[in-house]
Amino acid sequence: MESEEMHMSEFDTKLVHGKSQHDNQTGAVNVPIYNSSTYIFPKVDSKVTWDYSRSGNPTRNYLEDQLAALENGNRGFAFSSGLAAIHAVLSIFSPGDHIVIGDTIYGGTFRLINQFFKRWHLEFTEVDTQDLKAVENAIQPNTKAIYFETFTNPLLKVTSVKAISKIAKAHKLLTIVDNTFLTPYLQRPLDLGADIVVHSATKYLGGHSDVVAGVAVVKDKAIADRLYFNQNGVGSVLSPEDSNLIRRGIQTLAVRLDRHLSNAAKIVDFLQHRPEVAKIYYPGIKGTKDYEIATAETNGYGGIVSFELKKGFKTTEFVENLKLIQLAVSLGAVESLIELPYKMTHAELSPEEQLAAGITHQLVRLSVGIEDPKDLIADLAQSLDQLSETEPTEVESVNK
Ligand SMILES: *Cc1c(COP(=O)(O)O)cnc(C)c1O
Repeated sequence: MESEEMHMSEFDTKLVHGKSQHDNQTGAVNVPIYNSSTYIFPKVDSKVTWDYSRSGNPTRNYLEDQLAALENGNRGFAFSSGLAAIHAVLSIFSPGDHIVIGDTIYGGTFRLINQFFKRWHLEFTEVDTQDLKAVENAIQPNTKAIYFETFTNPLLKVTSVKAISKIAKAHKLLTIVDNTFLTPYLQRPLDLGADIVVHSATKYLGGHSDVVAGVAVVKDKAIADRLYFNQNGVGSVLSPEDSNLIRRGIQTLAVRLDRHLSNAAKIVDFLQHRPEVAKIYYPGIKGTKDYEIATAETNGYGGIVSFELKKGFKTTEFVENLKLIQLAVSLGAVESLIELPYKMTHAELSPEEQLAAGITHQLVRLSVGIEDPKDLIADLAQSLDQLSETEPTEVESVNK
């Protein structure tokens, strides 16, 4: 075991190999999918590792250990969705506790907070987490944590994990980071001072749009124990088959993300030269605070590119005329997906909230896949070429 670990010092190797298996009697190179809900007790008072699969399953536990190793944490937990993971994490707090949250976090997380956790008397204050003064000012005597996403969705605003963790530590708060957009390949928040990392593993970790899953990783043992209690006690665990799909997805994370990154850079370059495009949101574009923070704290600018078409160009027409890039929500998979946030992912926001969040009718979000970039660019080009400029509609003008 020691010698195997010595050969696994590099992150990309860890992705492929994970921890070695010692319970495998067949020589199989992959952990088996243990489809067993229950386990034999040799004796009534035997101390068994596994007794019931909600409490522990060898396939799921393998993935959980792998996630803990990749995020440089001590314990990982796999859930039946990203929201189930976030629910379990926020459930470590008690009624009356206050949490500072990013003001543009994932919509489903907002819904969970506003329509569920507030009923259980957790308190929340939304702030722009890039604004460190605003974060400081939002801290109250009953504040227990700061929760945010390093890259926001869909405008890719970047928050410094280091700076937020520093503020949190000074006030004895936990720092919780949703690392879905970056993955441990591009950023390991625990190394930058965070206490808990969560993921929608449905996105890049799974990577193939074929499984819904969630993850939480922690360093501290006391927090791990509370989180394990919630995982087992509430019971939204990841199935053995789905655990295997995430395990398999993770093995190719480095090669997939390298291609996502290079494709995204090429697409940004292409869009910068198109007269129909008004503005591009991508942390890899120099000259912004987002670029500075991302350059200092990540190993890449991610695979999501958002952009606005100029007023008068219809985004609906643009996305519907694409032939290769598919119109769908979700992100982080091998295939490129495009969507209109105001109509699709962020449709739950009122027009006023959309406006305040910068989500205009001209905004498009592209999850860049790993296809040949020439085909992706040709598809974007043919759809842009078909657009004819019209007088801006009233809503477009208001919306800008
Ligand atoms: C998709 C997503 C979630 C929710 O995860 P599910 O797997 O859909 O439950 C949470 N956070 C971010 C950033 C996401 O993109």
